[in-house]
Amino acid sequence: MAYDKHKRLDEVARRISECKKCGLWRSRRNPVPGEGDPDAQIMFIGEAPGYQEDVQGRPFVGAAGKLLNTFIRDFLGLDREDVFITNIIKCRPPKNRDPRPEEVRACSPFLDEQISIIRPRIIVCLGRHSARYILSNAGVGFRSILSVRGRIYNCTIQGVDVKVIATIHPAAALYRPPWRRFLEEDFGKIKMLLSGRDKVTLEDFI
Ligand code: URA
Ligand code: SF4
Repeated sequence: MAYDKHKRLDEVARRISECKKCGLWRSRRNPVPGEGDPDAQIMFIGEAPGYQEDVQGRPFVGAAGKLLNTFIRDFLGLDREDVFITNIIKCRPPKNRDPRPEEVRACSPFLDEQISIIRPRIIVCLGRHSARYILSNAGVGFRSILSVRGRIYNCTIQGVDVKVIATIHPAAALYRPPWRRFLEEDFGKIKMLLSGRDKVTLEDFI
């Protein structure tokens, strides 16, 4: 099973490396398809590669990635290799500008394929671009990251029943230190989801 998923994810990554569906292929050094356990229970979805990710071809390997690794280890007791980490957009936007709607439209089918191969139990959206894409596709209205963060949504995505939780982008916690507490609160909830304890405490979220 894991072997088959591995092969299918490699095949998606190969198509990403050849992709020219939006203009971002022109300025990228390396595409960043994502990485992790093909059988992961939990997928982290960020926005787009930054400088370090573009250089290394790997997601979340810069300063924001270091903070993400710390939260994954300290709150969830997991290593990066135990989860799957990717982005909505697979090539770096010049100067880290926001992804454009047409770029999200062009690139998101790759993410949809990755979700349908991995079939995670939990999706964590990191930041507003990720939350907007995932939640609006699942029929949940999206207004702002602060209005959706920390809530647990039961969604069907690509035919997969999945709990979706959005939190702030780790980079946002780096330039606004008081926001770190949002990450702490939301990772506490993710821990609860992972251990299956959400059912008994569902009223906490209503
Ligand atoms: N920020 C993102 O959204 N994704 C990365 O991979 C790195 C930084
Ligand atoms: Fe293709 Fe996505 Fe890269 Fe655009 S960002 S070229 S759609 S892989």
